[in-house]
Amino acid sequence: MTQSPCDNHNNMDINKIREDYPILQRHIEGRPLVYLDNAATSQTPRSVVEAIDQMYYHYKANVHRGVHTLSQEATDMVELTREKVRAFINAGSVEEVIFTRGTTEGINLVASSFGQMLENGDEIIVTVMEHHSNIVPWQLIGQRKRVTLRVVPIDDSGQVDLEAYEDLFSDNTRFVALAHVSNVLGTVNPVKQMIAIAHRHGVPVLIDGAQAAPHVKVDVLDLDCDFYAFSSHKMYGPAGVGILYGKRYWLEKMPPYQGGGEMIGQVSFERTTFADLPFKFEAGTPDFVDIAAFGAAIDYIQGLGIENIAAHEHELLRAAVEGLNTIDGIRFFGTAPGKSGVVSFLVGDINSYDMGLLLDKLGIAVRTGHHCAQPLMARYGVTGMVRASFAVYNTLDEVAAFVAATHRVAAMLQ
Ligand SMILES: *Cc1c(COP(=O)(O)O)cnc(C)c1O
Repeated sequence: MTQSPCDNHNNMDINKIREDYPILQRHIEGRPLVYLDNAATSQTPRSVVEAIDQMYYHYKANVHRGVHTLSQEATDMVELTREKVRAFINAGSVEEVIFTRGTTEGINLVASSFGQMLENGDEIIVTVMEHHSNIVPWQLIGQRKRVTLRVVPIDDSGQVDLEAYEDLFSDNTRFVALAHVSNVLGTVNPVKQMIAIAHRHGVPVLIDGAQAAPHVKVDVLDLDCDFYAFSSHKMYGPAGVGILYGKRYWLEKMPPYQGGGEMIGQVSFERTTFADLPFKFEAGTPDFVDIAAFGAAIDYIQGLGIENIAAHEHELLRAAVEGLNTIDGIRFFGTAPGKSGVVSFLVGDINSYDMGLLLDKLGIAVRTGHHCAQPLMARYGVTGMVRASFAVYNTLDEVAAFVAATHRVAAMLQ
């Protein structure tokens, strides 16, 4: 017998899971908080907060430097997280796992470093659904050199046009940067196929995995991506930590991003050599406290099972779309099959901000505005959308409350 998604998610006791999140007990304007802004940042369970406490109370010392016990222990914890990340994304080696401050910094690292190897006239391919973090760093190269962006279009459902994508490749294409999962549409892009197409043209690919890592099993070897960037704070982990996976081949070729301690071999005023991977790209003291705690967040996700988390979120998404669908004048953005747990919409000509403000008065936290994706807003001819996004601790009751509140606000404003 095959298991339905329901069977899967029923294996998780959501009410028990919720006990690990004191913030979910809060009330807003006298009503229970319904937190549906998980694509912006997810909440953090006790095990992760306790890992932060443990670091401050018992292990705080600078890493990779000291001979003393505390420094060794702190170093071990950071390196243990590196190994957990390696296993989580199935990277070949810990030397290919670089700690950053977040997805944004990971992409900037690649754009800035790889960008130094680009020439006037070179082209970079991105999609129209990219987050500003995966657009602007590439434009910044263009300010120093004549490098242009070529943009992959999407259809109305929010799926990339693969033929148009392949047509964008020319003799000048040097790089491809694309989202694994859209933060607005929830579309799960066929990145494995898109990477294969790029590689047929001899072009490396960076995947922005900020919205994928919390919801989709990521296997960088299977994808064969050249770079993969994501953020801890969107996957139940602390803020201030990100991961950049990069293939050793490229990381060895690329110049350092920032200079400082940790990233050097030998320094003299005449000549400085750089440290081996991954430290070549980790200048300065890393956020070792939060990196250590991020290890606890990976354990947390592994403990629940990412497939179970995704199945539960899909169930919430299905209920939300079904409930919202009966609102007069509702328009959904992103209806691709197999999309992740994000629902973006507008009702009639109600401003997304007005709707978000009134939903907040009813205790519902959603995102409004352009979602750091203004070119995508322009593609749909709007300036903003309302977005609800789900995490493992959200319940069908919360979805019902959100749906009822949205019906109410729509009736008030229309
Ligand atoms: C959140 C997000 C980013 C930026 O992540 P930061 O953690 O803010 O650096 C980039 N891309 C996508 C798709 C995102 O959702």
